[in-house]
Amino acid sequence: MKVFFSAEYCVGGSQYETLQKAGWIAASLERRPITDVEVLAPALLNEDALLDVHDRAYVDAIRTGKPRWLAEAQGFEWCDALWSAALASSSGAVAAALHALKHHSVAGSLSSGLHHARVDTGAGFCTFNGLALAGRAALATGAERVLILDFDAHGGGGTWSLLSGDEAFTSIDVCTYDFDRFSSRRWKNVLVTNPLTYAATIERELSLLDDAGSFDLCLYNAGMDPCELSDQGLPGLKQPVLAERERLVFDWCRVHALPVAFVLAGGYLSKRLDRGGLVSLHRETIRAAAASAPLEA
Ligand SMILES: [Zn+2]
Repeated sequence: MKVFFSAEYCVGGSQYETLQKAGWIAASLERRPITDVEVLAPALLNEDALLDVHDRAYVDAIRTGKPRWLAEAQGFEWCDALWSAALASSSGAVAAALHALKHHSVAGSLSSGLHHARVDTGAGFCTFNGLALAGRAALATGAERVLILDFDAHGGGGTWSLLSGDEAFTSIDVCTYDFDRFSSRRWKNVLVTNPLTYAATIERELSLLDDAGSFDLCLYNAGMDPCELSDQGLPGLKQPVLAERERLVFDWCRVHALPVAFVLAGGYLSKRLDRGGLVSLHRETIRAAAASAPLEA
């Protein structure tokens, strides 16, 4: 299974996990490989590709840092490396989607900081919306219907704002924290507040998709911030439940012969969650994905 990552995803010395953790996870995959996982750098999108989703003034702001209020609207301090990190991270999401689609397989990218970003601004530690870019790129290469699963703790209101008007996209968003939520028919947004019903809710929502066989690709935003150890996590929601969630998602895609591309999404250090703990959470996604992936020629 291909997992996209390059050092450009990260901003060295950054105080923000979103700009660092892909590197921690890649290092852990080197030290303790997961069977059948191959890490490789994505081809970088050219700047104009970002205009499939974002407007020119916003893209310019991230590249130049001007105006500063716009370049920092997602919550980061702007620096030159933020541009290459956001571009590389979104490029990885697109590469994973196109790889999964082309090879009818499972792929991923160690990208995060995507789903709150809107057409003209970043938000909630999300700079460019790599999920929306991946979805649009999939349509451009022949996919007709794309399913987006977003199981980050927070709602994916940015992706919703960008794609929900297009009939080609359907989404299930199960969140555990009331932030960036939305409502529309093909884009279901469910808030879970009881950890005991979390996995069952996801299983139920997947089973309610009566047209599961008609999708060409699933994009999966695999946030680990619902974990109770995160500051905005759901009390009582423990790592084994998130591991179970990952098995559910990738098994469901396999049963429906649906190619799937995952990205990492939320997951943050806290007083109760150290770097090793955070990496261990995100490895659950990679492990479950790899276990479900068909062998590629
Ligand atoms: Zn989140």
